[in-house]
This record gives sequence, C-alpha cells and structure tokens, in this order.
Amino acid sequence: MIIAVTVDDVRRQVKEWKKEGLSVGLVPTMGALHEGHASLVDSSVKVCDRTVASVFVNPTQFSKGEDLDSYPRTFDRDCEILEEHGCDMVFAPTVDVMYPEGFGAEIQITTGIVNRLCGASRPGHFKGVCTVVGKLFNIVSPDSAFFGEKDAQQLAVIRKMVKDLNFDVNVVGCPTVRESDGLAKSSRNSYLNEEERRASGVLYKSMTLARECIDTGKLQAAEVAEIMRETIEGEPIAEIDYIEIVDGSTLEPVETIKNGDLVALAVYIGNTRLIDNFTVSL
Ligand code: AMP
Repeated sequence: MIIAVTVDDVRRQVKEWKKEGLSVGLVPTMGALHEGHASLVDSSVKVCDRTVASVFVNPTQFSKGEDLDSYPRTFDRDCEILEEHGCDMVFAPTVDVMYPEGFGAEIQITTGIVNRLCGASRPGHFKGVCTVVGKLFNIVSPDSAFFGEKDAQQLAVIRKMVKDLNFDVNVVGCPTVRESDGLAKSSRNSYLNEEERRASGVLYKSMTLARECIDTGKLQAAEVAEIMRETIEGEPIAEIDYIEIVDGSTLEPVETIKNGDLVALAVYIGNTRLIDNFTVSL
C-alpha cells in the first residue's frame, strides 16, 4: 500500500491509474479506524479497481471546546487495517498540506439541511466537512466516494454538495456497522468508560422501540419521538441532544412518518456525544 502525504504524490499515482483505464474509489476518514471504516473500504474494493483512503483529522469541522486535540490517532494500526482490506493508497496529509498559510476558501451549503440535527449543536461543522471533502474530491478525482449511513446528515449534505456544485463523483452510502449490543461503531466509543459503555446501549434500545412502534402502525412522529425520549431519559447518565424524525433527503421534520424518513438522535453519555439513526422502511 502506498502512503502519500502530498497532493502531488496522490495526483501522480491517480493519473497513472486513470491512464490504465482503472476506476478509483475514495474513502474519507479521520483515522482511528474500526470495522465501520473497513466496511467502506470493502465496498470500494468491490466496485472500484483502485481504492484510496484518506486519514486526516480535519480541524475545520471541530468547534472550539470539541475533541480535536484528544481525538484518537492510531495511524500505524490504521495502515494495517487498510492494507488488510485491500486499500491501494492512504493519503495522510498534515494540516499544513490541507490548509497552507494564507488558505482562504470554504464550501458552504446555504439551505436548511445544514442547520438542523447535528448542524444545530455543531455550528460550522458541515462547512468544515464540505470544504475538506471538496478538497479531497479535487485532489483524488475519484469515480466513487464511500460514506457511512451512520453519519446520515453528513451523507445527505455531501450528496447535496455534489449535486449543487456538479462534482463528477458517484456518492455511495454504506450501512452502519454495529457492536453486538447494537451500539454503532465509532472512533469516539473509545472515550467511554465501563459504565458509560453499558449506558450507551440505550441509543439502540430507543431506536428498536421506535422501529417496533412504526412497524405496528404508529406513524405520528411526535408520539414515536416521545417514546424514544422516555426510554433515553430512563438512563441517568444519558442526556439528549436531539431526537428528530425528518425527511430522508431534505431533513425537514415530518408529522406523519413515511417510507424513507430518517429517525435520528444525538445523545451525550457522560462527556461523549454519540449519534445514530435508522431509515424508515414501511
Ligand atoms: P470518521 O472517521 O468518523 O469521520 O468516519 C469516516 C467514514 O466512516 C464516514 O463516512 C462515516 O460515516 C463512516 N463510518 C463511521 N462509523 C461507521 C460505522 N459504524 N458503520 C459504517 N460507516 C461508518
């Protein structure tokens, strides 16, 4: 596996692959890789001739007071995982490579899609995400890019950016990989102590109850959200950031639940903010 740290190194290699007629997949990550990330690499390896993964803890998507400095960094192990899963190149730039002195560009989506859910509690987050993903698309020129449904709003925002700015990239959403008790795998799960790890099961429990309600025909969003709220409030160390039921593509709140809607939540377990979601299938 090639380890590239400069933009030129990536471009030179991708140009060679393209000259040979090979398709290229991109898996953007912030490292601290787990089976969720590995599943994106697997998806890319399946449909693309060559796979590039990026490992970059992007400072512009963190607000002041968030966990930029403490975010787990496990680069050597990340490379092992990527290589085991058939990744061809890892792009691991420094902050200076991505944001050199004098840098002054941003990609900002201006519709409501970025203001609700995580956008409401993390102002500026999606501007940082779009800017770095837009840069990665321009550096790697992938045919396809792979993102997890676990970050459903991120996936919707990236799809919107690609559509509105005419990026020539096929965006592929990949299913959420979970622990055996249902907790979505996340690099931030490493912050949880034993008690918090046990308590974090309440996210999946509340989603399972919501799914059961919806399956039995309870389609009033407020009612379903209330059942989720009561479940989570039953866990003393959990604190709800949001529980929302929204349209799957616009992320506008719905009153009556329909096929394709997104049931999404963010919950603090101690100091760790966990997110999860599922898409309604009626
Ligand atoms: P991150 O490193 O957290 O920025 O995540 C990089 C990519 O991996 C994003 O597209 C995430 O949605 C995806 N991802 C993170 N956790 C999971 C998971 N448990 N299952 C599937 N994809 C995931």
